[in-house]
Amino acid sequence: MLSVEEALDAILGEVQRAAPILTGLGDSLGLVTAEDVVSDVDSPPFDKALMDGFAVRSADLVNANSETELRIIEQITAGMIPTKPVTAGTATRIMTGAPLPEGADCVVKVEDTRFEPAGQFAVGGTVVVRGTASPGMHIVRRGASLRIGQTVLPAGRPIRPQEIGALAEVGKERLAVFPRPTVGILATGDELVPIGSRLGPGQIRNSNEAMLAAQVLRAGGRPAPMGIARDNPAELRERIAAGLECDVLLLSGGVSEGTHDLVPSELAGLGVRKVFHKVNLRPGKPLWFGVWRKEPAGAESPPTYVFGLPGNPVSSLVCFEVFVRTCLGRLMAVEPARPPAVRARLVQEHVARGDRPTYNPARLGWDAQGPRVELVRWHGSSDLQAMVEANSLAIFPAGDTTFNSGFMVDVVPFDRSAG
Ligand code: AMP
Ligand code: MG
Repeated sequence: MLSVEEALDAILGEVQRAAPILTGLGDSLGLVTAEDVVSDVDSPPFDKALMDGFAVRSADLVNANSETELRIIEQITAGMIPTKPVTAGTATRIMTGAPLPEGADCVVKVEDTRFEPAGQFAVGGTVVVRGTASPGMHIVRRGASLRIGQTVLPAGRPIRPQEIGALAEVGKERLAVFPRPTVGILATGDELVPIGSRLGPGQIRNSNEAMLAAQVLRAGGRPAPMGIARDNPAELRERIAAGLECDVLLLSGGVSEGTHDLVPSELAGLGVRKVFHKVNLRPGKPLWFGVWRKEPAGAESPPTYVFGLPGNPVSSLVCFEVFVRTCLGRLMAVEPARPPAVRARLVQEHVARGDRPTYNPARLGWDAQGPRVELVRWHGSSDLQAMVEANSLAIFPAGDTTFNSGFMVDVVPFDRSAG
């Protein structure tokens, strides 16, 4: 049986980045850039006022203790173009964001001025400025933050709202990204009914489909829910075959040792190559992973990566967070693709029992001493309610061990957005 690290290595050994596609900027949030994006403009595109006030020549304002009278020659608001140069003894009324007129080298704030006569502003009238000004004051020069031809965003960067803003500023309506994989979700089990159904004897609702679809969305993929397949070989084979059209196929249930656990044999029958079955962790041990290629090796079309997830909801959730996300991350060029762990301080004593490393539902937080983690009480792999209280998984090594409060433990957060 593989360790978690070996299973992650095996997944990363198989899964290749998807080929880049062009996408609209509005669909790119959470994706990774597949091209270097270069600016087609200087930013800002012109020398620009940062304050409402007057564009002046600092050379006209040299005496700190006196007032200077300047003649107002023009008024410029954002979007207008100045028509008159500021010459000695003159000033242009200017608003934040407007282009600086020729001749002016700074802006004085309107608060530091008054109008003559009678406090009335008028073009042709007089503004009285208090004190001095220095070149560059309250303005930003053309190209100060970015020059034409400069790289705005290199390939390989995750796109957050600020990247979308920066790309929009340089007019990038479409860009090359690593695409969202389509992820088929097929639940298996004779006991399952759709979530809108009343439960008959022995039945349970197919909660895994909705949960996995949400996990796919959170990871940036495109979920394709496929409903419920019964535990019978012919039906399973047909439904799995349909799911192999997706980039990734998640099967829920039917991968353990029961007489109705038919998924591994049907996958084999369809020619899906097994990479591993069973991983040494709790919960999630029955996990199955394999790869399917439409045509013989060397074919053009990308393969389908197939996960057989254990049916127990908590096992399914954990296997997705640890293994499926690694696969989706690699496909989408997220780095690192492996689950990132935060080292956090355990704030309680924890008595661990068992022969497998355990991924325990936990609450990760921060206090004055840094990252802290508190375990959520849970009753094993069907206890989804414990997961409702959790925001992360705390990893404990195998063995019967008592972990004292203060022990530093690796914690995998569910929310992996870095900001
Ligand atoms: P299996 O992995 O098929 O042996 O299922 C293990 C347990 O998970 C059983 O108690 C199932 O009833 C439950 N289970 C299986 N599939 C689902 C599902 N789609 N939604 C919720 N629970 C499930
Ligand atoms: Mg089953």
